Amino acid sequence: MLSSHVAEKIWQQIKQQLSKEAGKTVYNNWLESLKLVSFSDGKIEIGSHSDFHKNWIEPRYGNRIKSLWLASSDEIKSVIFVVDKNMTSSSGSKKQSKKFNNLPISSPLDPRYKFEKFVVGPSNDFVAAAAQRVAETEDVAFNPLVIYGGVGLGKTHLMHSIAWRIREINPNRQVVYLSAEKFMYQFVRALRQQETMVFKEQFRSADVLMVDDVQFIAGKDSTQEEFFHTFNALVDQNKQIVVSSDRSPADLEGIEERLRSRLGWGIVAEIHQTTYELRLGILQAKADDIKNCEIEPKVIEFLAHKITSNIRELEGALKRLVAHSQLVGRPITLENTQDVLHDLLRANDRRVTIEEIQKKVAEHFNTRLSDMSSPRRARAVARPRQVAMYLAKQLTSRSLPEIGRKFGGRDHTTVMHAVSRIESLMNSDSAIADDLELLKRMLDS
Ligand code: ADP
Ligand code: MG
Repeated sequence: MLSSHVAEKIWQQIKQQLSKEAGKTVYNNWLESLKLVSFSDGKIEIGSHSDFHKNWIEPRYGNRIKSLWLASSDEIKSVIFVVDKNMTSSSGSKKQSKKFNNLPISSPLDPRYKFEKFVVGPSNDFVAAAAQRVAETEDVAFNPLVIYGGVGLGKTHLMHSIAWRIREINPNRQVVYLSAEKFMYQFVRALRQQETMVFKEQFRSADVLMVDDVQFIAGKDSTQEEFFHTFNALVDQNKQIVVSSDRSPADLEGIEERLRSRLGWGIVAEIHQTTYELRLGILQAKADDIKNCEIEPKVIEFLAHKITSNIRELEGALKRLVAHSQLVGRPITLENTQDVLHDLLRANDRRVTIEEIQKKVAEHFNTRLSDMSSPRRARAVARPRQVAMYLAKQLTSRSLPEIGRKFGGRDHTTVMHAVSRIESLMNSDSAIADDLELLKRMLDS
């Protein structure tokens, strides 16, 4: 029988071999922290400190490690990889946590904001991929990474995800994450206490600098200046920079030209407005995380359809429903959803106007906008006009006479006729039905 002492010795030899094959960087960052967790009946268990670590190791080095073990002794029958949460991530991690404590400039990270909890769809897949790339490679392929998008669409969530992942992969990398507001606050305080050297030192010792909501420093000249110098110093040392902003660098006002152009050097990735499918996916994921709470699928679909402004509001709506249901001890149904959320729903009501409808429809059918209200009755202009009237009835809360007035002062019976004409055409002509489906979608989002 192989003693555990001998097994450990073999393991050290295998690790030496791996360090030769994989190179120093990969070995130090990934392989060194692997541990021989147990050994019995010819079964070897190799431990990782996290799921992520294990999932990284196994496809890349799993077979190699297995074959080295199997070759080392006839008594080894199998090798499996496990996650051992008791392990620290590496010998460097203790040093690291001290380092972090010593760096008051970095803000705490929210444990809910990780890649694992970030739902990806067409509106954010590019930015999510870029974020993951930056987090998982140290070669600084693009610098800076700029993440931009509207309020509540996931910028901060992604920033934290990057920081968590970097720490997970290599706890020795010094990540500094903070908001631009906090950057300014720290800077002003350093000025006041005549500690600007300390301030500069701290930022320049970062391996990765992440600044959230960078639009905040627009118009704040000396803070901007300091940020610019920090930025340059880090880029010169090939350190990674990630910033988020509520608009694209090109649209940032009150930012000096040289800083703006620098922000555009790397990758500028937008988080777009959500789609219905993404909202649905996020709600389902969040609902699954809530314990002891039944939510009808219909309710989830209803929310995804109605609350389109941003994800923060969507989450807020779900939380409110859950709190309400737990308080009154009743399940969540479509009816009480409408009740509990009536203010939110009203604020999110589609605000599409008749003018927008006319414009989109005219574009779609390649007719002139003025023909929407002209007296011309040629089919080429009358049909698009009827489509627009139909959509105005469907998508706005305007009355028939009101709609008629917007179409060159037509009578409400004309509108009524248009609506029923389009309805019957939709049943008989699939091309028209497709056109309408498309137009509705475009006007809906
Ligand atoms: P921003 O910083 O862009 O204003 P946040 O990152 O604070 O937005 O996101 C608002 C909320 O929405 C957070 O609770 C976040 O977890 C959630 N959220 C945003 N995008 C996603 C996503 N793709 N998947 C899951 N949750 C998301
Ligand atoms: Mg934010």
